[in-house]
Amino acid sequence: MRFAVTKMCGGGGKARAGALHVGGIGVETPALLLSTRKGLPAFVSCDILASLPLPDSLLLHVCPTHFIEGPPSKTISSIGGLHHMLGLPNHILVAAAGDSIESLPSSDATNKFGASFETPSGRRLVKLTDYVELISCMKPNLWASLADEVPAWSTEKRNKISVDRTLRWLDECIALNKDSGTNTLGVVVGGSSIEQRKLCATEVSKRNVSGYLFSIIQCFWIGGFGLGESTEERCSLLNAVTDCLPSDKLRLVSRLGLPEEVLEGVSAGVDLFDSTYIYQLTMGGFALVFPVDTVERGMQNGVFESSSGDSTKINLRATVYRKDTSRLVDSCSCFTCQNHTRAYLNHLLNVHEMLAQILLEM
Ligand SMILES: [Zn+2]
Repeated sequence: MRFAVTKMCGGGGKARAGALHVGGIGVETPALLLSTRKGLPAFVSCDILASLPLPDSLLLHVCPTHFIEGPPSKTISSIGGLHHMLGLPNHILVAAAGDSIESLPSSDATNKFGASFETPSGRRLVKLTDYVELISCMKPNLWASLADEVPAWSTEKRNKISVDRTLRWLDECIALNKDSGTNTLGVVVGGSSIEQRKLCATEVSKRNVSGYLFSIIQCFWIGGFGLGESTEERCSLLNAVTDCLPSDKLRLVSRLGLPEEVLEGVSAGVDLFDSTYIYQLTMGGFALVFPVDTVERGMQNGVFESSSGDSTKINLRATVYRKDTSRLVDSCSCFTCQNHTRAYLNHLLNVHEMLAQILLEM
């Protein structure tokens, strides 16, 4: 894996553009990791995935916890890892435990042995050794070590425990998986404590010294967001973290999904996002309709001003679209906009036809 910052925002801003190269594939950042359920986007099959714009559609976020009750990890390993099992040999798979749909961190039940998650089949404790075993069988291109993520209302004592535990797990993850040749993302947590966030980011950055056992930490996964923090807290926490990380290394933030949250992340110097926003909109029958220049005008001092109401999306279930023969977005070149009307999508949603979700997710 290689990453280089190619351009910095002028005027002292922290936003940046970069070039990420993984296994012969080059992707420009900032970029979005497509969210998946058990390896694939929820409604997009391999052939449709291949028809989506390249190279951006090659970046996928996979959640190891989705596979806990799946095929035994040894079976995934025998097939040749997740790339071969999913039939996506040329995609970049980024693995991090937990998402914002099916596998939410459950900090109360997390203990020194592992991190706990709320899943559709109940609460699951993911032990560190099992996590590393799963990762070594899945062979993702990049993977985040196990994290103890805590909600924004946690006490200072609990925030400190989360940092201590996450750092210990990081060292143990690397020691257990050091011969795998995969790229480990160093995890930054610390809840809503600026002090603990800075401490964690600084400590994880120390694993980036060349020649050190842990010099394989070339990129960073910022966790513990989207767990109840306010907009103001999020901005200052994110900036405190990115200020402490090496400026030339890749940064991924987890669970910041709304367009305005992604823009806040970009302005704090984050490169990758694992948003589930597209999936959530698709499930609700929504289509995004905002032209990009509206968003640019709405950005003031790094904070998105959205007081004028929501003109970014439309609910295609509404009866107003029943006879609407226009495209979703006139100027859009995607398959759905080029071939279908709002009226047709309204019909598909009304008759519970899964093609609606396929077209919307595309
Ligand atoms: Zn479109």
